[in-house]
Amino acid sequence: MAKLGRELAAKGVNVISLSLGETDFFTPDFVKDAAKKAIDENYSYYSPVAGYPDLRKAIAGKLKRENNLDYNFDQIVVSTGAKQALTNVILCLVNPGDEVIIPTPYWVSYSELVKLGEGESVFIDTTLESDFKITPEELEAAITPKTKLFMFSSPNNPTGTVYTREELAGLVKVFEKYPDIYILSDEIYEHINFIGKHTSIAEFDSIKDRVIIINGLSKAYAMTGWRLGFSASSKEIADACDKLQSQVTSGTCSVTQRAGVAAYSGSLESVEEMQKVFLHRRDLVYNLLKEIPGLKVNLPGGAFYFFPEVSSFFGKKTEDGEVISNADELALYLLNKGHVAVVSGDAFGDPNSIRISYAASEEKLKEAAARIKKALADLK
Ligand code: PMP
Repeated sequence: MAKLGRELAAKGVNVISLSLGETDFFTPDFVKDAAKKAIDENYSYYSPVAGYPDLRKAIAGKLKRENNLDYNFDQIVVSTGAKQALTNVILCLVNPGDEVIIPTPYWVSYSELVKLGEGESVFIDTTLESDFKITPEELEAAITPKTKLFMFSSPNNPTGTVYTREELAGLVKVFEKYPDIYILSDEIYEHINFIGKHTSIAEFDSIKDRVIIINGLSKAYAMTGWRLGFSASSKEIADACDKLQSQVTSGTCSVTQRAGVAAYSGSLESVEEMQKVFLHRRDLVYNLLKEIPGLKVNLPGGAFYFFPEVSSFFGKKTEDGEVISNADELALYLLNKGHVAVVSGDAFGDPNSIRISYAASEEKLKEAAARIKKALADLK
């Protein structure tokens, strides 16, 4: 959708893009300065595969300071974005035929990475009515002797759903009964959380050894292009990820890593500022979207997305007489007629919804909501 939106914009159409999973803020200056200094100091060479030791120590420091979690630096593997950290863990853990439980909707790459590991994804479907959360009962019902891994993100992409500590405690009770299952906790949206302090499922001591945390700089520090993510896990899994990564990328960019040391040792002021702006935008967009007839929307607890249910528009006709039969077609219609780029929920495992990112200025968000409202009202 982002590509189609750009193509339309290149033809002179004023497209508002709400399709991408990245913030519209700038990387903090103190982080950029550290990168500039690293270039001048000739950080031009291969780093250790799992990252410079002082970066891994800074990340362990962050995990202690912000999450009250104890990790030694050799349990941290720094990778080329959270995406590679996820890939490492899945390829190391998942063997052919292993089952990986994934609540839907989920971030697009999860099921594709499981395919790369020749595993089988087992989905637990959630709905807007349950705030896109699974219950302990649903989790237990999905477990079989083949289950190797449970994988989720909180705050979630694409729904913005955040599990509370109590809700995580309920899932942990189930995991306690199944000691062979690993838990992959993608916490990349940790700092865009409106319900209070982030809780990591690794904070539950009874399962911590089996939890692999994934996080990185992309979202909190507006650094998607810099490519720095990490895994925090048992040393055994970290060693396996290190070995795999040594054959694939030899580690992420040296200059990015020096910027990472600054980010993970520095102040959270810019992150907190960004969170405030996102909270304001979330409320703004929520009030605009809930006024649109036919759109069902929940109030997300984090990240920067809305994931409205749009099935009430399926079967309706456009002014040109074309029938909208699914979310893909609706997203295309909103782009071509409303000139707003959003993403169909299909790619996230939910064919009845669309994802709307609110990583854009208030002015653009207001205009986009008005365009969506008008385009949807034109469907008969
Ligand atoms: N996990 C989730 C849930 C994401 O939304 C994204 C990015 N869209 C990633 C991981 C990947 O992050 P990175 O850019 O650090 O690879």
